[in-house]
Formats: sequence, structure tokens, C-alpha cells
Amino acid sequence: MKEQLEKMAARARDEIQAVDSEAALQNVKTAFLGKKGEMTAIMKGMGKLSAEERPVIGALANTVKEGLEVALKDRFDQLRQQALQHRLASEKVDMTLPGRTMFKGGKHPITLVMEELVDIFSSLGFGVSEGPEIEEDFYNFEALNIPKDHPARDMQDTFYIGDDVVLRTHTSPVQIRTMLQHAPPVRVIAPGTVYRRDSDLTHSPMFHQIEGFLVDKKVTFGDLKGVLTAFVEQFFGSGTGVRFRPSFFPFTEPSAEVDIACVICGGKGCRVCSHTGWLEILGSGMIDPEVFKAVKYDTEKFSGFAFGMGLERIAMLKYGVNDLRLFFENDLRFLSQF
Ligand SMILES: [Zn+2]
Repeated sequence: MKEQLEKMAARARDEIQAVDSEAALQNVKTAFLGKKGEMTAIMKGMGKLSAEERPVIGALANTVKEGLEVALKDRFDQLRQQALQHRLASEKVDMTLPGRTMFKGGKHPITLVMEELVDIFSSLGFGVSEGPEIEEDFYNFEALNIPKDHPARDMQDTFYIGDDVVLRTHTSPVQIRTMLQHAPPVRVIAPGTVYRRDSDLTHSPMFHQIEGFLVDKKVTFGDLKGVLTAFVEQFFGSGTGVRFRPSFFPFTEPSAEVDIACVICGGKGCRVCSHTGWLEILGSGMIDPEVFKAVKYDTEKFSGFAFGMGLERIAMLKYGVNDLRLFFENDLRFLSQF
């Protein structure tokens, strides 16, 4: 029996060293030391031994068992370590490889221009107001001194939704809505989307405007010039030439268009400014008393000025873009330059 035990122990040691996984080693452990294993089978023969032999074999069996348990434990540790090393090697990350560039989003140039304008006019004391894009005829035309039969309606190719409902053709209805809600003094800008049936190199059926107006006691054309000149200097750079040219709008009297010295040629004359040296950027004027009557402002006590400009137009001038449609095509090669 002693020989049997020693042979078994030798075989078990060989098998323990031969396996290459923890699962296989577990099977070896069961085969030799398990309840139905070889060790148990051999020990069943203990009963046939003499009283002298029994403690000797018993002590040997314990030694063999303990020896195998130590061998098993060592081999388990070894295999676990090997598996860990293998995993570390296979999952190794090369920290020296260059990273992948993350795509970074940015603001649309029209948004950038709108935010800059809001900043500039806020610094001049203007608040921001907004109104609906689907607008009633009254706010879009009637109250702005453009009655139904007025020829000025032909100046704006309007999208009609119903007889008296339109997609607003300008941001000026916000002026009416604001004045109906607030007594003077008011000092507000209204940026937003407007719509006209028009589409070519310099016109889009949907575009953006910013409207501004100021009403108070004793407001003069000089105030209008001061505010708009300050705006031009901040937006296009100090020293930019400005001129006010007489014009006509139904809702202002007198009216003026504002030109700046051509940003391309500096006033010498080029293709962009049609060799005049000047670029038109906005329309403005003193608010017509007819408009004040529509919003029930006292024309004897108050006066005011208003102005409006197309954001796409001034974005084109500021960034040197020659085709309006680029702003709406969502081509990342264009948009990522801003
Ligand atoms: Zn020019």
C-alpha cells in the first residue's frame, strides 16, 4: 500500500505540472483528492492492514495528501500568474501612438454675427425683443404705414398664409408689438428670421434681419447717426468711413440708407463696390408719426429712430463671402472656417 501511495503521488505530481489551465488543474485535483478520487480508493484498503501497519500508512497518507495540496496550490498560483501576464500582453495599449482628432463643432457664421450685434447694441443700452415668424398683416404692414393698396407692398415679395396672415417679411413687426406693450422710453433690438419669395446670388427665401429702434423725448437724427456710427466702428473697425444717404421707407421720415467705405478696396473703388468705394449696409430713419399713431404714442411728446439690416449681407462683407447661398448649404468645408 505504501508503494501504491508513492506511485500515485508521483503520477499526480507529473499531471499537475503537465496541465496548462486552471480548469484542467481542477480536474486533476478531483481525480486524485476528490471524494471519488484515487486517494480515497486506496485508503479504503486501510481496514485490511494490521494494527502495526495502520498508523504508519496513515501518517504516510497524510504526508502525501499535504504534499499534493501544496503542489496544487503552487501550480494554481503559477497558472493564474501566467494567465494575467498573457492578458496584459494581449491588451497592451501603446501610449506613444498619435491620438485620433475629435471633430469639434462650431457656431454658424450667421449666429456669430447675430451674437456680436446683440453684444454691441447691448453695450449701447438696447434690450433684446422677439416676435412670431407667422405674423398678422396688421403688425407686418398696416401698423407700419403700409396699407393694403400701398405700392410699397410690391417692394416685398410676401408669402401669404391667409388673407391677413403672412410669414413676416421683416423684423419690423416686433417694433409694433413692443411699442403696443411698453410706453416710451423704449430702446430695443429684434434679431430674427424673415421670409420673402426671392432666390438668387444675393437673395434667399429665408434670411435674417436685426431691427433696432429707440423712442424717447427729444430724440433727433443726430442720435440716430451717433448710434449707427458707433455700431459701424465696433463691428467693422474704428476709422471705417460711414455716410448717410437720403432714401425712402414707408415707416420712417426722413429716411436714410447707411453706407460704409468698401471693406475690400478701402474706398478706392473695386468690383465688389461697383467702383463707387461705398457699400450699403442698412436702412434707417426717424419713425413716421403714422406708426406712432398706430401704437397710440403721443407724437407731440415723443420721437424716435429705427434701423434694420440683413445679417447675411453684413456677414458677407465682414468675412468676404461672395455667394449668399454658402450660408445655407451646410457645407462643412465652408462652415469650419469660422
Ligand atoms: Zn471696393
